[in-house]
Amino acid sequence: MYFNIQRFSTHDGDGIRSILFLKGCTLACSWCQNPESRSEKRSLLFDPSLCLSGCSACLEVSSAITRDHTDAVIINRPAVNELYLDRLKTVCPTKALSVCGEQAHTDLLCEQLLKDKPFYIQSDGGVTFSGGEPLMQAELVRDIAQRMHQEGINTAVETCMHVPWKNIESVLPYIDCWLTDLKHTDAQKFKLWAKGSLSRIKNNFQRLAKQAKRLVIRVPVVPGFNDTRAELQEIVDFAVSLESCSELHLLPYHTLGSNKYNLLDIKYLCSDKPLNNPELLADAQLYAQNHPLSRKQFTVKIRG
Ligand code: SF4
Repeated sequence: MYFNIQRFSTHDGDGIRSILFLKGCTLACSWCQNPESRSEKRSLLFDPSLCLSGCSACLEVSSAITRDHTDAVIINRPAVNELYLDRLKTVCPTKALSVCGEQAHTDLLCEQLLKDKPFYIQSDGGVTFSGGEPLMQAELVRDIAQRMHQEGINTAVETCMHVPWKNIESVLPYIDCWLTDLKHTDAQKFKLWAKGSLSRIKNNFQRLAKQAKRLVIRVPVVPGFNDTRAELQEIVDFAVSLESCSELHLLPYHTLGSNKYNLLDIKYLCSDKPLNNPELLADAQLYAQNHPLSRKQFTVKIRG
């Protein structure tokens, strides 16, 4: 299952890229800006500000949707089944209701991704798998990445590393660049904020570092979670200890996707303000650059 192909991206890997966003994630990070990607099934989004008064198109195709005494549309989400989603996909005239997620077919996806092959080749770009957690669908990633390699196209994957090692191993020969997340080094805090096992991630890092062609570690810097000097320094210590890690990216927290939580009717529990602490990021950058284990080719970037 996938939910988007973003063409002409210049942010997720080198050059001009297409990003294939796959559904489903094994973590539930409080600050996640793509909450529509969490479920491996299709998701229903509803924006009341676009809903037309007097319209009943969605009510006619799904008994899970009603209007209350104020005429507001009410969705009984647990009652929204696959059949309703099929019907709701195209029924709303204003896109107040939209369904996120499409069945993935390898051939069709490759066909779409290959449309921009000339741009990838000219710019040293390629195809990036993202999500959600793309390696939950490792077989699909492997098949598409293998096809891209046959076409001479560079591949990258953005992963939280919270997957069984066999999923990583199965795509390894076909991935040129690993854009990996390291969010914390404290297992309890990680469990509390991201709902996952840090030891699984660390074990995967130790194994991947021995085999990855290129390993980039990305750190979302989130208020209240890891925005202290000591926490960032411990993350840097771990990143630098992985011999093949060539880059560390510090990603300051933003809130650009927080409205999606309203559309999905989920509570957003993270800060409503972006991280505004350039000194902290500069300090962590300096710490990494001057680290005794840091190598010549190790670079640290602060991304916007
Ligand atoms: S179909 Fe769209 S515009 Fe019509 S009632 Fe439903 S949500 Fe509102």
